[in-house]
Amino acid sequence: MLIKLTKNQQKILQILKSINQEITAQELYIKLRESKLKIGLATVYRTLNTLHLKGFVQERNSLNGESLYSLISDNHHHTHHFNCINCGESFLLKQKLCPVDDMFNQWCSSQNFKLYYHTLEFFGICEACQEKEFS
Ligand SMILES: [Zn+2]
Ligand SMILES: [Zn+2]
Repeated sequence: MLIKLTKNQQKILQILKSINQEITAQELYIKLRESKLKIGLATVYRTLNTLHLKGFVQERNSLNGESLYSLISDNHHHTHHFNCINCGESFLLKQKLCPVDDMFNQWCSSQNFKLYYHTLEFFGICEACQEKEFS
């Protein structure tokens, strides 16, 4: 499937690929300006939204309600995070372990739902906070 991307879309995907982590629209906006691209913040939001709808980019909300964007790569259709409810730190779980199995993915297809990605959020207290609280 060949999808034509605009210059802005290409540039945003390029940046997301190079940083390989989650980023807010504002942070992305700053990076785009640093790379001398004349782009407004509203355009950054609109472009991210388009890329989200096309299945290139995923979005999830941080504990403080900010939208975080990252690239959906071929071998990475999901992200699982452990969120510390004390310090607000968010840790990406790198393990391949995933409770969502192929049967569920097949069920989605059978419902004519085009599945792009999923996120899983776990909430608790991180190691550093446990040590601070209980030592
Ligand atoms: Zn913590
Ligand atoms: Zn998963």
